[in-house]
Amino acid sequence: MKLSSYWWDIDEDLTTPMPEHMPHEVDLLVVGAGFTGLSAGLTAARQGRSVAIIDSGRPGFGASTRNGGICSGHIRIPHAVLSQRYGKDYADNVYGEGIEARADLVKFCDDEKIDCQITKAGHFNGALSQKDYDKMGHQCDALNAIPGHDVELIPRDRVHDEIKTDRFYGGLLRREIGGFHPGKFFAGLLRVVAASGAEIISRTIVEAIEDDNSSDNKDAKLVRTSRGTIRARQVIVATNGYTGTKQPFGKFLRQRVVPIQSCIIVTEKLGKKRVKELMPGMRMYGNTAKLSCYFRPVPDEDRILLGARSFDRLEPSGRSVAFLKNKLVDMLPELAHHNIDYCWLGNVAFNQRQLPAMFKEDGVYYAAGYAGSGTVWARWLGKKTAELAMGMSNQTSVFYDKPPQKIPLYDGDPWFMPFVNGYFAVQDKVNEWGYRLK
Ligand SMILES: Cc1cc2nc3c(=O)[nH]c(=O)nc-3n(C[C@H](O)[C@H](O)[C@H](O)COP(=O)(O)OP(=O)(O)OC[C@H]3O[C@@H](n4cnc5c(N)ncnc54)[C@H](O)[C@@H]3O)c2cc1C
Repeated sequence: MKLSSYWWDIDEDLTTPMPEHMPHEVDLLVVGAGFTGLSAGLTAARQGRSVAIIDSGRPGFGASTRNGGICSGHIRIPHAVLSQRYGKDYADNVYGEGIEARADLVKFCDDEKIDCQITKAGHFNGALSQKDYDKMGHQCDALNAIPGHDVELIPRDRVHDEIKTDRFYGGLLRREIGGFHPGKFFAGLLRVVAASGAEIISRTIVEAIEDDNSSDNKDAKLVRTSRGTIRARQVIVATNGYTGTKQPFGKFLRQRVVPIQSCIIVTEKLGKKRVKELMPGMRMYGNTAKLSCYFRPVPDEDRILLGARSFDRLEPSGRSVAFLKNKLVDMLPELAHHNIDYCWLGNVAFNQRQLPAMFKEDGVYYAAGYAGSGTVWARWLGKKTAELAMGMSNQTSVFYDKPPQKIPLYDGDPWFMPFVNGYFAVQDKVNEWGYRLK
């Protein structure tokens, strides 16, 4: 079994040449070269601005080439709850922006000729109890009332048309959602950004961002890096779930955004016929567990990928592999004797509101906290943040707001996550026993 991302095994190039010299001064400096950072840099460079995008490691080797490749633009908070908390208009705008952002991703791949096997395959969420299924009826109506959604409630006797499991009491099918190959998308994005004139500087750590008092521009900053200082007219921080804990840089963000480890397994080759028998809908899939998992056929349709929260922080252990494989076999018992070929970990990022966040603090722009749905949101909010920072548009995003709240007793080390995961795991077990006894 390889302990590395399945998405890295491609013919396309995921590396970038280092520029010969570090720039001294730029219009826009972006910290972090994942989907958010590259998208921000591209937007500004295409307007003729000088741009440096700096990453402490290899571009994309944060979350952007480790994810499940489900392109949902999902919002964790149900529409009804969002309406109750912030008003119906706000909830409609949030869900509406999801539709716009997803369509924009598809258009971007098309316009830039990025062949990343993007499909509108649909997303099927399986209900693990009758209660969960009943709730889905309301969700279905609420989503269909917002233009751009195409949602259907699938009763129990039709679940096998979607996936060959007896574990679901029915499910919610969202036809407007799809998936892609994150590695191929990232390789295409790198190519487009490099051609735009933006400089991508890898293996360079941003250590501190300080005010540039010699400039009349109140947002101007001196960005201290492990390879020298760069003067920047504007700065965007796009480090999301990989904001380190070791430098003075990032403190504001790491007190507000919690990195949560997610682990993915990919089966050995099962063959297209077998995958299609097990997942006739060939969709993106999820379930209603508290510790929910996401699963899908890989874009080549010959293996199955499954991801869920992880027990490990740095490298996947045997315990994580066994936990994920159990989840897979619990749904599809026929996979019990098949091997797992890949397993890897990555950080997803949450803030207290569990909504994507875009904000400005002390002259610096931020986009972060996509709650596990950044394949759509990260690229979109990277673009929106750059448009705002460069004064290109007044029309930003419904997510542009005050910074997320600081999380009490927290400074970047999510020590409480094992307890949270344990609590959810117990709730899932109790629910499961409850329904089995009925
Ligand atoms: C296992 C997993 C599964 C997921 N599945 C899905 C999915 O199916 N669908 C979906 O929509 N989303 C999914 N996501 C979430 C999605 O991948 C992320 O939201 C998205 O990639 C975030 O992109 P980003 O550019 O903001 O951050 P990242 O890609 O994490 O990039 C941040 C970058 O900042 C750099 N950095 C950090 N500190 C510094 C510093 N001091 N100096 C310089 N550089 C620095 C890091 O090296 C990193 O490259 C998943 C994530 C994971 C981990």
